[in-house]
Amino acid sequence: TRVPVIRLNDGNAIPQIGFGVYKVDAGNAEKVVSEALEAGYRHFDTAALYGNEAEVGRALRASGIPREELFVTTKQWFDRQEPVEAERAIAESMEKLDLGYIDLYLLHWPAPKRDRYVGAWQALERFKLDGLTRSIGVSNFLVPHLERLARESATVPAVNQIELHPAYQQRDVVAYCRANGIAVEAWGPLGQGKYDLFGEEPVVAAAKAHGVTPAQVVLRWHLQLGNIPLPKSGNSSRMRENIDVLGFDLTLAELDAITALERGGRGGPHPDEQN
Ligand code: NAD
Repeated sequence: TRVPVIRLNDGNAIPQIGFGVYKVDAGNAEKVVSEALEAGYRHFDTAALYGNEAEVGRALRASGIPREELFVTTKQWFDRQEPVEAERAIAESMEKLDLGYIDLYLLHWPAPKRDRYVGAWQALERFKLDGLTRSIGVSNFLVPHLERLARESATVPAVNQIELHPAYQQRDVVAYCRANGIAVEAWGPLGQGKYDLFGEEPVVAAAKAHGVTPAQVVLRWHLQLGNIPLPKSGNSSRMRENIDVLGFDLTLAELDAITALERGGRGGPHPDEQN
């Protein structure tokens, strides 16, 4: 499997498909990550919140795959944005992962009512300078949050990881990111089972036309739009299915028909309310 890479605004490369480990409990994470490695994933998306950093790190180390071939993201939870807490939080994540360095470290949510995300971002800038993480970015940032970072800090985030799938595309956020060199990662890329994406007519039609599954069509839509999807599955045949999306191209008409599935309602919390 040859997953394409995207060049980030800091010069680092990121595999365009990542394996998400949200709700993979610690007891299962080592096995799931080992199976994902076997399926060909090299990019893994975890977070302090997910409670599985130690198990994810252990599976990656046990694989014997050279560190530089792996790409590992973790995230700072929003109750740790105060500078001293931020240092403790990344130290804890690094100790649990035990991979020498983090590839991409994200502010998990802006939590704007706390009004601490600019200071937290400046802490991440220092972590990058100190070599704790190769790249830094944000998650669940809306345009006003990104504009504030642009005004009050020196570094443009390398990525913004947001809820993004055909039924909820956040076009204003994506347009801002594309215009400002911020790569867009899609969480809940398959709609988290909260939307019947796999039963939508344009998805079903494209799946038939290309001899693939509806999930593969949705992931292919992300890749052709330039998104970095982070599909999650605990099932090894679905893991393989979700990375086996490089052998076909959706037509422009198929892409447009899927893009027309926008419904305008998020599945997760509103970033201004997640405090
Ligand atoms: P997802 O859209 O990847 O949906 C996962 C669910 O879809 C699975 O539990 C499974 O039931 C189903 N599924 C997966 N592959 C399938 C297939 N081939 N066919 C049919 N059904 C299939 O949603 P997610 O897991 O919530 O999100 C993916 C990753 O995004 C997470 O694991 C996590 O890493 C990240 N995430 C980040 C945030 C954030 O705030 N930054 C929030 C949620 C998730």
